[in-house]
Amino acid sequence: MIPQLSKEISLDPLYLSYFKTLAAEGAFAGEIEYSYAARLSAATDNSVYQLLPAGILFPKTPADIQAALRLAARKEFRGIRFAPRGGGTGTNGGSLTSGVIIDVSRHLKGIGAVDPEKRTVHAEAGVIKDWLNEQIKQYGLFFSPNLSTSNRATLGGMISNDASGQGSLKYGKTSQHILDTDVVLMDGSLVTFGPVSGDELKAKMDLATIEGQIYRTVYEIAVGKRDEIVKAFPDLTRFLTGYDLKHVWDPETGVLDISRIICGAEGTLGFITGATLDLTPVPSFRALVNIKYDSFDSALRHAPELVNAGVLSVETIDSCVFAMAKKDIVWYQVKDLLTEVPGKTMDGINIVEFAGTDAALEKVRMDLLINTLNEELREGNSRGIIGYQTCTELKDIQAVYAMRKKAVGLLGNADGAEKPVAFVEDTVVPPEHLADFIKEFRELLDSHHLRYGMFGHVDSGVLHVRPALDLCDPEQEVMLRTISDKVAELTAKYGGIMWGEHGRGYRSEYGPKYYGGLFDELRRVKGVFDPDNRINPGKICAPYGNDSASLVSVDAVKRGFYDRQIPPGVRQSYNRVVSCNGNGACFSYDTTSPMCPTYKFMGDRIQSPKGRAGLMREWLRELEEAGVNPLLEEKLTEARGVTLGDLARKTWHTVTKRGYDFSDEVLEAMNVCLACKACASQCPIKVDVPDFRARFFNLYYSRYLRPAGDLLVRHFEESAPLMARLPALFNKVNSLSPAKFMVKKILGFVDVPVLSSPVLKELLREKAPERFDLNALEKLSPAERAKRVLIVQDTFTTVYDAPVVHDLVSLVAKTGKIPVLLPLKPNGKALHIRGYLREFAVTAAKTSDFYNRVFRLGIPMVGVDPAIVLCYRDEYRKTLGAARGDFVIQLTQEWLLDNLSLLTPRGKDENPYYLLAHCTQKSLKPGTHDDWVKIFRQVSLKLIPVPVGCCGMAGLYGHTAANEARSQAIYRQNWAPVFQKYPLNRCLVTGFSCREQVKRMEHAEVRHPLQVLNEIL
Ligand SMILES: Cc1cc2nc3c(=O)[nH]c(=O)nc-3n(C[C@H](O)[C@H](O)[C@H](O)COP(=O)(O)OP(=O)(O)OC[C@H]3O[C@@H](n4cnc5c(N)ncnc54)[C@H](O)[C@@H]3O)c2cc1C
Ligand code: SF4
Ligand code: SF4
Repeated sequence: MIPQLSKEISLDPLYLSYFKTLAAEGAFAGEIEYSYAARLSAATDNSVYQLLPAGILFPKTPADIQAALRLAARKEFRGIRFAPRGGGTGTNGGSLTSGVIIDVSRHLKGIGAVDPEKRTVHAEAGVIKDWLNEQIKQYGLFFSPNLSTSNRATLGGMISNDASGQGSLKYGKTSQHILDTDVVLMDGSLVTFGPVSGDELKAKMDLATIEGQIYRTVYEIAVGKRDEIVKAFPDLTRFLTGYDLKHVWDPETGVLDISRIICGAEGTLGFITGATLDLTPVPSFRALVNIKYDSFDSALRHAPELVNAGVLSVETIDSCVFAMAKKDIVWYQVKDLLTEVPGKTMDGINIVEFAGTDAALEKVRMDLLINTLNEELREGNSRGIIGYQTCTELKDIQAVYAMRKKAVGLLGNADGAEKPVAFVEDTVVPPEHLADFIKEFRELLDSHHLRYGMFGHVDSGVLHVRPALDLCDPEQEVMLRTISDKVAELTAKYGGIMWGEHGRGYRSEYGPKYYGGLFDELRRVKGVFDPDNRINPGKICAPYGNDSASLVSVDAVKRGFYDRQIPPGVRQSYNRVVSCNGNGACFSYDTTSPMCPTYKFMGDRIQSPKGRAGLMREWLRELEEAGVNPLLEEKLTEARGVTLGDLARKTWHTVTKRGYDFSDEVLEAMNVCLACKACASQCPIKVDVPDFRARFFNLYYSRYLRPAGDLLVRHFEESAPLMARLPALFNKVNSLSPAKFMVKKILGFVDVPVLSSPVLKELLREKAPERFDLNALEKLSPAERAKRVLIVQDTFTTVYDAPVVHDLVSLVAKTGKIPVLLPLKPNGKALHIRGYLREFAVTAAKTSDFYNRVFRLGIPMVGVDPAIVLCYRDEYRKTLGAARGDFVIQLTQEWLLDNLSLLTPRGKDENPYYLLAHCTQKSLKPGTHDDWVKIFRQVSLKLIPVPVGCCGMAGLYGHTAANEARSQAIYRQNWAPVFQKYPLNRCLVTGFSCREQVKRMEHAEVRHPLQVLNEIL
């Protein structure tokens, strides 16, 4: 049994007092969070480092940040340190601190009015780049600096790291599109920095405030040291981050623009609250030419020539990245856009984009390139080009870039303990040296026998490489330092820099060597903004005059330090938990994407797959610290079951529980999860929260008593069919207020679904399917068997939505096949969800045994509810391994696709239907939408898939009192807007839970798509 994990990670009394005073004085309207779970959720980003903050402030307004800093200015709080944070997607620990994180991503999301004439807009620092562009697209404008994390990185983070990416050749870096920035300085003053010259500049320099000092100091350095600055700053399109002394002053116009120093300052000078952005017209023409090569080197060497063809961008990926993409859900959308070349090996690709507002010009450029490619291919070229494909549809272009954007994450999904890690991942050298630089880079990595994937913005000389290391191995951590140093030298040799895109962060120690004598000028800049080194200390440089302040180091404490405390066997068994690399792909705000509905709705990073995986990592570590091996505990619970002695012990632990238990913080995060499984497929690393959540519940409830409602779950599949024998009686009782009250109070359930009445048996009375008789079926000839289809029931649909099963039977009959209804067998998914793993394994074994016997008949087995059918494939396989056997139960759509020719419609219906597919189905069967569209097309019906997130029901989740409000709110966020747009009677819903949720929320029924087919055939 697991112990109580009562060792609270202490909070420095100074910080505790600061948080309490901030809350008590009432000037701070946002949230102040310092639970261990909250601190853990902000202890990592996408870097290799881990640092526990003292707490997190979520300001609601800039005034909140001012209040927080003014309080910190009091004598008693002078020891408090801060770091700003946005999306937390940084790759070098930029936002990590042991002090207070000020996270602007939760609330500072306002967007001002667009000025279409000037092409500007003002936005707050927590605005996410893709979201911003969605809001302003109606003006034909967009914020053009690009980055792979555009669906989760914030403006504050983009400005601070001076982000850029695909398209930077034309669109440039973030700093080139910032007209001014609003910044709260360490003294609590809110200042707007923008371009000033002449009298205005003089007036600024005359100010007696910290703002005035900043103007005076920066002017003095930028003008006085101009020649040294020009010499030291490389002439690259990806110029240096922190601090941009080269562009802050324009000698020709005499303009001083402090916002150019704020851009790329990596959160070390102040807290950005907003900025005025320069917008770009949306190109009217966009097209890709995806060129395929026999090697990565061929792709790289061809890139400079492509750049000269007037393209928007050239992005290169290697075969390793390509291979990882093929294993991911993202591949489904691009598989026809990047096909193999028969007889050739494709080991590199250049994604070449043509884009602009002059469509004719872009088209000419593109045709020119295509002609050249055709010529090269005809002549049997010697440059490694083996083929190309074009795509001009916006959705296809977006799909290719979605794959490219996911590349970093995908690399993290590599097998084995060595995982690609970020530390030399954004080098930049002049593009003409890139191929030679990469050759040496490869030699270096090969000499250490390291695996790696490569891709990058070859047009700008940026290379993304993440060597695979196991940082749980101390020796490999040493190797990280060695390689880091060597790459720093290598980039210098080729006239480049090590931090071309993602900022310096923990690589700040390379700064002094790089800048030489100029480094002190950077320190003077830091010194005037932050003399006491309180904002993100240790990053970029220490303030001038503060010689006791040190820089952070590449050798700082890494995640591996904590992970290696978890025994290797446990790490391996829970490998998806430990592999989460914090890339933040699970922080999607898009309500049409299945990715994490709880994070989307709550905006709380704890309630995301990353948050949950982080808690679980720590939980496994603390168990080890307490001398408990979870794998052994799992074996014990599996072998022993629940004895009377256990029950007594659990009762004792539950009743006498006093004080803190970290497991409770984990429990809270797990209870909120819907187990929708979106993370298991959408996360590039396939972090499968429902899987480890079930394992957590299993162990948690080996110590404590379960909630009473779990008993109902445990016996649900046995009791529901019994209740269904007297549906009218049970429905009546359930509708009575006292019964509802008791069910809610005692069992914790609400809105208990209504049993189908008439029951399935009655519904099928008229056209009864063939009775299932295994012996009789075995005796049939192969030809006779081929005429039959076995209908697999599940408890939920049969008992609560019997008409759907009836219609499947009827539909099968209409195709000319003989439907045979299999007896109802428990599936156990609900047991798995609640962590009854022993009981689930027993159920799964028995049910598998039955279906394996039936499967031998060679007759297709078809199930109706996607979540249940997919459970046979996923959870059954994980639990039983080879013992699961080979039985196959098809989803309805799969069987229909196999039998398309049997679908001949009687009537015609010109109006479209709309498909809302189940989350798990879309996640585990990415072709779901296309499959159903194809089936409907066969019967001359138009089906339009609607991209929607989770409906909020997820099995029993929405029926629990604890989750009722959240479940309904998730529905209102993701599904309700669909029914405002489309008529409910034309919307078709594949999941039983989803139909239940619609029934509850809209007080109306929606149909399964098979029911429409049944109607029309
Ligand atoms: C998979 C992956 C791909 C990436 N691809 C790219 C890419 O193509 N191009 C690119 O440029 N970057 C890329 N990055 C790096 C990162 O996403 C960007 O640098 C991004 O701009 C960081 O934004 P954020 O909101 O997540 O910032 P955070 O990670 O929260 O913070 C980054 C830095 O900004 C500071 N900061 C954040 N908000 C503020 C604020 N309001 N005021 C002052 N300082 C602040 C922090 O202190 C920190 O130093 C990638 C990262 C990942 C994980
Ligand atoms: S859970 Fe997945 S998507 Fe989220 S941060 Fe971890 S690896 Fe990235
Ligand atoms: S199962 Fe769904 S709700 Fe739970 S963490 Fe994964 S995506 Fe989020």
